[in-house]
Amino acid sequence: MARVLFTPVFQSVKNMSADSTIAPMLINGEWLSTHAGFPVVNPANGEQLALVSDGTADEALSAVDAAHAAFASWSVTTCHHRSAILYRAWELMLARKAELADLMTREQGKPLRAATNEVQYAADFLLWFAEEAKRMYGESIPSARGDQRFIVHHHPVGVVAAITPWNYPVSMITRKVAPALAAGCTVVLKPAEATPLCAVEVFRILEEAGVPAGVINLVTTASPAPVGKVFCEDERIKKLTFTGSTPVGRKLSAEAAPSLKRVSMELGGHAPFIVYPDADPVHAAKGAALVKFLNTGQACICPNRIFVHRNIATEFVETLASRVSKMKAGDGRGEGIAIGPLVNEAALHKVDKQVADARDKGAEIVCGGQPLTDGNLAQGHFYAPTVLTGVREDMLIYREETFGPVAPVVVFDDEDDVIAMANDTHYGLAAYVYTNNLSTAMRAFEQLRFGIIGINDINPTSASAPFGGMNHSGLGREGAREGLLEYLETKLGGFSI
Ligand code: NAP
Repeated sequence: MARVLFTPVFQSVKNMSADSTIAPMLINGEWLSTHAGFPVVNPANGEQLALVSDGTADEALSAVDAAHAAFASWSVTTCHHRSAILYRAWELMLARKAELADLMTREQGKPLRAATNEVQYAADFLLWFAEEAKRMYGESIPSARGDQRFIVHHHPVGVVAAITPWNYPVSMITRKVAPALAAGCTVVLKPAEATPLCAVEVFRILEEAGVPAGVINLVTTASPAPVGKVFCEDERIKKLTFTGSTPVGRKLSAEAAPSLKRVSMELGGHAPFIVYPDADPVHAAKGAALVKFLNTGQACICPNRIFVHRNIATEFVETLASRVSKMKAGDGRGEGIAIGPLVNEAALHKVDKQVADARDKGAEIVCGGQPLTDGNLAQGHFYAPTVLTGVREDMLIYREETFGPVAPVVVFDDEDDVIAMANDTHYGLAAYVYTNNLSTAMRAFEQLRFGIIGINDINPTSASAPFGGMNHSGLGREGAREGLLEYLETKLGGFSI
C-alpha cells in the first residue's frame, strides 16, 4: 500500500510537544515540534491537512547554531562523499514520486500531473548537483613572473540560509539545497507558510539519504519576519538565498546588507510573449495556452503580456480562447483538471482586480473573467481561465505580475516597437518569442533584457541550464554550473618558488 506522506513523520520523531499531531521541524538532527502549531489547508477545498510547528527566532537561532557547528566537519568531506549522498536522495525522491506529488496537490493545489512533473524537476537538481559536486575544479593561471605560480581553489561559503515560496514547494528547495550540499555548505531553510509539509518530506528524504545531523535544518513558521531577521543579521550565516516576490527580496537584501553576506535573489517576473507575423499563430497560441496557465498562472516564468502581430491576431486569439475555455478547473486530483485553485483569497482578489481594471479601461473579456463558485469550487479559491484582448499600457495587468490564470493580449504593428514594449518593465526573468525567421529570433534574443528566453519554446528550463533574472527579477543563477558557483568562494594562491 502506498505510504501516506506526512503521517508517518510523526511516528519517528522525538516530539517536544505534548501534541504529537503537530508536524515537526528538523534542528540538529532532531525532529522537534513546537507546542502550538499553525494550520495548513488544502486550497482546493479548505480542508485542514495538518498543524505544523510554528518556529520563532529562538528555533532559527538553534538551527543556525547547529549548521555552524556542523560546517566544520561537513565542509571537509570529499566531494565524492557528498555526491553519493545526493545520488541516494535522488533515488529516494524518485521512489516516492507518486506520494510526494499527491501531497503537493493537496497542499499546493496544482493538478496531479503537474505535481508529478515538479517532483521529477526537483529530483533533477539532486542528480545534477550529485554530478557537479565532483567537478569543483580549480585552475592554474600562468604568471608574468617566472618565479611565480597562481592556483585557484574553490571553498564552500559557509552556513547558508534559504527561504522558499509555495508555488513550487519541492523543486525550489532542491534547487538551493542540492548545490549548497554539493559545495560543502550547511543549510538552514524556511519554507513558505502554505506548503511546509512538502518541505518536511524533502528533508526526510535528505536525512534518510545520509545527510548528517546539523548539516540541514528546517524551521517552519507562520511568522516569517523574525526568522528572516535572524537569517539576515546573524554573522555566522555567510549566504542568503531567497526565492519569492520582489518586495520581500528587496527588504531581505537590505536587512542582509550590514553583515555583507552574499545574497541570491530569485524574484518576480512579468514575461513578454512575442508572436511575430511570420510565426504559425495556431502553434504559438497552443504554446501560450500551455505556459500561461502553468500552475494556474502561478509561476514566475508565466507570460504576463502576450504581444501578437496584427496580421495573425485573429487566428491566434481564436485558438487561444478555444483552448482556454475548455480548461477544466477543480481539485487537482480529479480527472482532466487543468486549473487548480489560487493559493488564497488575497491572490483571487488580486486577479479579479486586474481583470476588472482592464475591463473598465476598455479591454474585452474573450473568455472567463470571474471567480468560479459553482458547487465544490466554492470551497476553494478558483478563478476562471481568462483571455483578455485590447490590453493597453495604462492597465494594471500590463504593469503588475498577475500570478493567476489570465492571458492579456496586446496587438502590435511594428517589429521594432515590440522589443521596446517588451522591455518596458522593471522585471527581467523570462521572455518568449515565436518566429520562423532566424534573424528576427537572434535580434530578439540579443535585445530582450531577460535572463531566460524561449525561442519557439515554452519550457526553456532544466537543472542543467542557468535559471535567473535581470533587473528587479533578481541576482544570481540557480541550476547549471553557475548554480554551484553561487555556494563557493574563490581562493587564489600566489606562490613564489
Ligand atoms: P513571498 O510572499 O515573497 O514569499 C516567499 C517566501 O518569503 C515565503 O517563504 C515567505 O514566508 C517568506 N517571507 C515573506 N515575508 C518575509 C519576511 N519579512 N522575512 C522572511 N521571509 C519572508 O512570495 P510568494 O508569494 O511565496 O511567491 C510568489 C513570488 O515568488 C512571485 O513573485 C514569483 O514570481 C516569485 N517566484 C520566483 C521564482 C524565481 O525563480 N525567480 C520562482 C518561484 C516564485 P510566508 O509564506 O510565511 O509568507
